[in-house]
Amino acid sequence: MLAEEPLCRACLELGRTTASTRVDHIKPLSEGGTDDRSNKQGLCIPCHDAKSAAERTAARRDRQDR
Ligand SMILES: [Zn+2]
Repeated sequence: MLAEEPLCRACLELGRTTASTRVDHIKPLSEGGTDDRSNKQGLCIPCHDAKSAAERTAARRDRQDR
């Protein structure tokens, strides 16, 4: 998977070139995402951590709204 996407996708969008070291689920498994290749992307550790933190915050907000 990382061999297919050797560069962090989030960094590329910002014009940065960073090696991807984590396989990220674009839609988290906890939110019904699949384990298919189409739902995976390569990210570097800082981007993966930031995305995970944002997803946790969003999940908390969802629960409070209900
Ligand atoms: Zn990155």
